[in-house]
Amino acid sequence: MNYNTETINQIATAFAAMFKTAVKEQKVSSGSNPTIAEIEMGMREAIREIGEQALGILLSSLQSTPSLEIPCKCGGSLRYQRMRPATLVSVFGRVSYERAYYAGCTCQKGKAPLDETYGLEPGAVTAGLSALLSLAGIAFSYNESPCWINEYLLFDVAENTVRTQTEQMGALQAEQEQALITQCQTEAYLQERERHPERIVTRLYGSMDAAKVRIEPRPKKGEAKAPHEDWRDMKVLCWYEVEPVPPAQRSARHRAKVAREQPALRAKNLQYFSDIIPAEKFGKLLWATGCERYADRCPDLVFLGDGAEWIWNLVDFYYPQARQIVDWFHAEEHLEEVAQAAFTDPAQRTAWLDPVTQDLWDGQLQRVIATCQALASTCLKAQKAVTYFTNNAERMRYDRFRADGYMIGSGTIESACKQVVTHRLDLPGAQWEVDGAVHTAKARCAWLSGDWHSLCQRRAALPLAV
Ligand SMILES: [Zn+2]
Repeated sequence: MNYNTETINQIATAFAAMFKTAVKEQKVSSGSNPTIAEIEMGMREAIREIGEQALGILLSSLQSTPSLEIPCKCGGSLRYQRMRPATLVSVFGRVSYERAYYAGCTCQKGKAPLDETYGLEPGAVTAGLSALLSLAGIAFSYNESPCWINEYLLFDVAENTVRTQTEQMGALQAEQEQALITQCQTEAYLQERERHPERIVTRLYGSMDAAKVRIEPRPKKGEAKAPHEDWRDMKVLCWYEVEPVPPAQRSARHRAKVAREQPALRAKNLQYFSDIIPAEKFGKLLWATGCERYADRCPDLVFLGDGAEWIWNLVDFYYPQARQIVDWFHAEEHLEEVAQAAFTDPAQRTAWLDPVTQDLWDGQLQRVIATCQALASTCLKAQKAVTYFTNNAERMRYDRFRADGYMIGSGTIESACKQVVTHRLDLPGAQWEVDGAVHTAKARCAWLSGDWHSLCQRRAALPLAV
């Protein structure tokens, strides 16, 4: 939007003059000068108030002289009734304006043409504020969000408003994903894809995981108490590419990796997706989002996961050509669990763990399995580990994977589950219904994927709720 900087200069001069007077007055009344912090805060509050008033004045002034009669959508006609006040909750707070209101059609529907022209939804949150409230909602728990918002925007917003706006963003993201799923089955889409072979990358990674989310529905009206709490699996998918980290940018962790003859790699172009749905349905999302990344055409597609069966079943079904790797951290964790369960003495534990971890690192799976087997008769964890390492042996050829330059641990991208579930859905005070958890997670995924602004644009383009 363009506006006149000349006018800005004039307003700024008047604004400064107003504060100069205020500064002088404060000095007289309290005997000391206000601090820069006080001046800054005063200016922020004034700017908010100016925005609130100016937006209301502007909207009212956009109303042209109303005509007596206008056509109705139904084909009938609407008669001018009166100028009717309305409010919006904007980034400046509650804004009031007036516009012409029409009614009297046989269809019983009334309308305010100004609202339709500018996409105003009386009583509702504007798209601009919605974007900011949702941004708080994906980062902080809903009961904490209003405090943060007040610090930034200088007015109060109810917890429930933040929740509603955030979940609405997530619902939009869900719609977008559904559209992708439908689209990837159409001939037109597949043909369009054929025209862009340059979008195929030489090596693409996919990573899947799941984490438990506590579902504890709030009691509905008339219900004495909430239905029982429940734990549901939030499945998370992340697509990404990998690039070497230049020596000058290497962290201590990267340098340690290089010392262990592992390349220093980092993930880029990350895209996250999540849902609480059965694996079979999640597979459709995997396939549709994979089509966007040309996963099916990638000459070197790699999947990282823990040992969970649903992950490898989906990979086998949709991407049989993909290389499957058990995430190093998950594999190593299994050995640590065995050590914890089998040895109480820390020294013994380390003496067992260090060499077997080295074997795993070197791809010596038979030795790893034999080492666990030796404890299996007395230790249930060891017995389970034997099964785990046997079933996943081909996915743990870490010596080969390292030699071929693969990233073997998603530690650098932090596990996708941590990003989505632990850092938001598990925050203290979180209480979820399934839809709320899913939509909040989806909104957070859009942010983490760098798709936030296109999501906000879709929110702004929403047709008015009539
Ligand atoms: Zn009508």
